[in-house]
Amino acid sequence: MKKVSVAIIGAGPYGLSLAAHLAGQAIDHRIFGRPMQFWSRIAETGGDRYLKSYCFGTNISAPMPGYSFADYNGPRGLETFEPCSMQNFAAYGQWFQQNVVPWVEDIDVARLDRQAGGFGLSLADGSRCEAERVVIATGLSGFAYVPDLLATLPTPLVVHTSDVSSFAAFKGRDIAVVGAGQSALEAAALLFEAGARPQLLVREDEIFWQTRVSRERSLWRRMRSPIAGLGTGPKAWTLTHFPGAMHSLPDTWRTRFTRNHLPPEGAWWLRSRVEDKFPIHCSINVVQALEADGRVALTLRDTSKNNLERRLVVDHVVAGTGYDIDVDRLSFIEDEMRASITRLKRYPRLDASFESSVPGLHFIGPASAMSFGPLFRFVVGADYSAHVLSGRIAPKASLAA
Ligand SMILES: Cc1cc2nc3c(=O)[nH]c(=O)nc-3n(C[C@H](O)[C@H](O)[C@H](O)COP(=O)(O)OP(=O)(O)OC[C@H]3O[C@@H](n4cnc5c(N)ncnc54)[C@H](O)[C@@H]3O)c2cc1C
Repeated sequence: MKKVSVAIIGAGPYGLSLAAHLAGQAIDHRIFGRPMQFWSRIAETGGDRYLKSYCFGTNISAPMPGYSFADYNGPRGLETFEPCSMQNFAAYGQWFQQNVVPWVEDIDVARLDRQAGGFGLSLADGSRCEAERVVIATGLSGFAYVPDLLATLPTPLVVHTSDVSSFAAFKGRDIAVVGAGQSALEAAALLFEAGARPQLLVREDEIFWQTRVSRERSLWRRMRSPIAGLGTGPKAWTLTHFPGAMHSLPDTWRTRFTRNHLPPEGAWWLRSRVEDKFPIHCSINVVQALEADGRVALTLRDTSKNNLERRLVVDHVVAGTGYDIDVDRLSFIEDEMRASITRLKRYPRLDASFESSVPGLHFIGPASAMSFGPLFRFVVGADYSAHVLSGRIAPKASLAA
């Protein structure tokens, strides 16, 4: 079996960008995964779903011009600023894959193990691949977080937002949506619009909303609050324009900043679809969740009313409770190798070339955020990752071959 220099696991924006740049440097590689699966699934749930990021901040990176999100949208008369629909982004990703990275192998990697001089990958069809280096670009797959309290309920009664395949399936049902971030707010709006009866349970005292940024802004406004791929303001601008800078900062500062940057808030375009549409209960902690005659009985504690407790019975709970990136949850990595990956707050600790403590094993995308900062939770970080890995790491791998 011919060993390749690089195997990429995952064919979302990060994996596709890297493959495009490796090809641009004639570095032999294989890329596995269902192209744009995360985004296609979102698109298939139905309803009006939009990106929070700007069009220009959601590019899949190619080494040649002509493949940005705006390059796709412009000639088709689609939005080239914001908001861009999720369906539109999924279609752009499929178009990018078919035109720039047509060699993607549409198959999952079932197991990754270490071998002399590299790695072995077992594919879902039972075949094998050997590689000198492996790049894990599996995004948020496998990291959906449901608090223990809710996770003990059987699956049809509680579902994470990422596992909802159709909002219309909840029509006519009472749903408690837990959370206050974009996923929870959007799920509640989509449930309402699909004919369900959602109630939003929010731990915080209020919901925070992004403000809309005008396309036409004075020079003064643009200088005070510059617009960049990660958002608006000096912090977003600095992070976007110096994507590698955070890696050299002390761990304690960087990890705190990464956790706290961009706290839960809804997109401006979602606000009118949420406010005054369905009940929103703020300052609420869910303290118990029990199955009761095929429904869910929740005990809610209201922290704004001296911890007063009350009961709410619903048909389902939708958990918009985010993601918990934890190397231990990457079950396709063989146990011993996984245990030997050095962690930074449960994420892999990565060097400046996105390499983990296992030589030749790299992580890009959201899993790299603790080492590189919040930019890498978003598509906008794909360009830097692809440039760094193809420029610094892959050439070494191919020379060693
Ligand atoms: C609801 C929601 C909305 C978001 N909106 C935005 C937004 O507006 N803008 C933005 O920039 N970011 C947004 N994000 C963040 C976004 O998810 C990430 O920025 C982006 O998807 C990361 O790209 P990726 O390539 O790392 O992962 P993904 O896009 O998740 O791709 C992962 C790939 O890995 C594959 N894969 C998984 N396991 C295996 C395996 N074992 N073998 C082979 N392949 C595998 C999958 O099939 C998929 O192809 C959002 C996230 C959520 C949850």
